[in-house]
Amino acid sequence: MGHDILSGGLREMESPLYREALTQFNRVVDMIHLDDNIAERLRVPQRAIVVTFPFRHDDYSDVESVWGYRVQHVLSMGPTKGGIRYAADVNLGEVAALAMLMTWKCAIVGLPFGGAKGGVRIDPTKISWPEKQRITRRYTSEIIDFIGPNKDVPAPDMGTDEQTMAWVMDTYSQQVGHSEPAVVTGKPPALGGSVARREATGRGLVSLLPLAAAEIEIAVDGARVVIHGFGNVGQYAALAASELGCRVIAVSDVSGGVFNERGIDVPAAMAWVAEHRSLQGFDGGDRISNDELFGLDCEVLIPAAVGGVITADNADRVGARLILEGANGPTTAAADEILRDRGIMLVPDVLGNAGGVTVSYFEWVQDLQNYFWSESEIVGRLREIMSRAFGQVLEVARSEGVDLRTAALIKGIRRVAEAKLVRGVYP
Ligand code: NAD
Repeated sequence: MGHDILSGGLREMESPLYREALTQFNRVVDMIHLDDNIAERLRVPQRAIVVTFPFRHDDYSDVESVWGYRVQHVLSMGPTKGGIRYAADVNLGEVAALAMLMTWKCAIVGLPFGGAKGGVRIDPTKISWPEKQRITRRYTSEIIDFIGPNKDVPAPDMGTDEQTMAWVMDTYSQQVGHSEPAVVTGKPPALGGSVARREATGRGLVSLLPLAAAEIEIAVDGARVVIHGFGNVGQYAALAASELGCRVIAVSDVSGGVFNERGIDVPAAMAWVAEHRSLQGFDGGDRISNDELFGLDCEVLIPAAVGGVITADNADRVGARLILEGANGPTTAAADEILRDRGIMLVPDVLGNAGGVTVSYFEWVQDLQNYFWSESEIVGRLREIMSRAFGQVLEVARSEGVDLRTAALIKGIRRVAEAKLVRGVYP
């Protein structure tokens, strides 16, 4: 390949996901003979903010210092855009990798954003609601100079939700002295959030299911679907798949999985999780482990939790014919190769889960214009953008003789490189 993988950021950003992101990027760079200067520039984020801040536990005497990050990968194409993740193992490298993926994703679906991502290293299942509020407000103030409607617009990701975005918006608005809904997306509709944003990632992903299934001649009606991760993305993907007539035979979360050959009652599982915060104790099927879930015989597998779960260790026993990536970075490069050899079709994260950022874009536009669209307009435009991007990626895949991940990255990286080239180097 000829790249020193330790050049271009890995010393600062060392993490398995950043390595994966660079490996994917370097493959495409070689394939499309990208200008060396541009390639070197795109291997590293333009801005990476690392903060530590104290937060007070509910036990008033207990004050803990936590780490927070915000990484902005490319600032050349408009504001940056990307979620904020709360997880026990978040680190700078992971956030930087996710910011890079956001750049490609926005370019693939044609949104006027560069990529960003944020994170706070905290286990969201171990903090109370008031603790989460204090963390969110303090994190927001620490990064406040770097976010804003025309600078960088956060959104929810793992461990954060509409309420978290409402706290970010409120903290920002308090500091600038006026209400600024456009500073975040994924807010509650009462604050200028868009209808259909909550369902957008899962729904957008599953809107590609019939298109991908047609390519490999799988019948959608009755197709067996398995879902890893049952949070925002997993739940709405499950719902959308069952609305299409598929049979969701297994779902799982961090507590383990549930399997039912006759089909999981998705609304009942969602209601259980809303009440109990996990699938633990849900009796709509037999308990299985997350590891067993990947081996289940099915038509469609939807990873919708964390990164790096489909690896060289389990790719040869994946039981699906089609993988729709809802999570970011769920498949390692080594696993990609195994799946390719096995003829399993994979719709990659940068295309598959782009529905979230697409409706976030709609939300931002609506907030800036103070003019709100109907649900049917939003869902219709989301479908249109997703299916157009899928068609374009498929075309690249055919013309270049590559898989869908490579094709999507070729499309995204070319667009970003073109923008960088025409802007030139300042000064
Ligand atoms: P979430 O916090 O709502 O849900 C995450 C789910 O994954 C939970 O069910 C959790 O229990 C489960 N999980 C966590 N660790 C796990 C593990 N080790 N094994 C099995 N399950 C595990 O998060 P989300 O917003 O649904 O995001 C899920 C994934 O989708 C992430 O990779 C995120 O980056 C990606 N994504 C989210 C959006 C969005 O709009 N929310 C958009 C694009 C991509």
